[in-house]
Amino acid sequence: MFLADYHTHSAFSHDGHDDFPAMLASAERAGLRELCVTDHCDIALPRPFPARERYEAYLSARSGNVTSVRLLLGVELGEAVHDIARAEEVAAAVPYDFIIGSIHALRGEEDFYHLRSETEAEFHRLLDCYFRELTELAEWGHFDVLGHLAYPLRYTQWNVPSLLPRYEDELRALFRLLRDTGKGIELNLSRLQPFQDVLALWREFGGEIVTIGTDAHRAGGVGKGIADGLEILRGAGFRYVAAYEQRKVRYEKI
Ligand SMILES: [Zn+2]
Ligand SMILES: [Zn+2]
Repeated sequence: MFLADYHTHSAFSHDGHDDFPAMLASAERAGLRELCVTDHCDIALPRPFPARERYEAYLSARSGNVTSVRLLLGVELGEAVHDIARAEEVAAAVPYDFIIGSIHALRGEEDFYHLRSETEAEFHRLLDCYFRELTELAEWGHFDVLGHLAYPLRYTQWNVPSLLPRYEDELRALFRLLRDTGKGIELNLSRLQPFQDVLALWREFGGEIVTIGTDAHRAGGVGKGIADGLEILRGAGFRYVAAYEQRKVRYEKI
């Protein structure tokens, strides 16, 4: 069984806490073969992203790595389509193994983490916009997998357990685009995003690329539940999980 965590945050993320060596030690305890650190770079926010400094820290952690875990450098680009020039600059600043494209906030809105909709209808209006932005992101395409596809559902007070069946048409259009451009989705283990029905739809589309990540923001959370994630993937009909190196996909048997 190939255990790897492809969505984690270090202290280089504004909401992360630990350095690469601490995360590697935790990954080894969790029995991982690979750890990909995907710190936030939120394109629409004025927050600086120290790409070069982080790259140096990665090289030093890699050369001083005393664990059996392979360390990979990723990044989670948030809201790339809000400023494509900056996103492309960040993506090209240093060599990355893996890039997650995420939407945490819509144009002119707060992060869904903070956003509260007055009514369920209002929440669905936001979800309509969310799908439009995901489609824009997929059309832009400078990433490897779409991050936590059902992110807005994580924090809403409304009972919307899945994007299906309501957003089936939107998901089909998005999946067609992702499949045809060689992109993937991720199984994000933080409140399980997306759920098995969405994974099964991706499979039905001939979607092959799925990475698994905990979205851990502390070293202690690295690798937690990856084996269960692989079982979920298997249950949705997948036989392989995706891994990356220098932006090239590789398939590992589950
Ligand atoms: Zn995210
Ligand atoms: Zn994340």
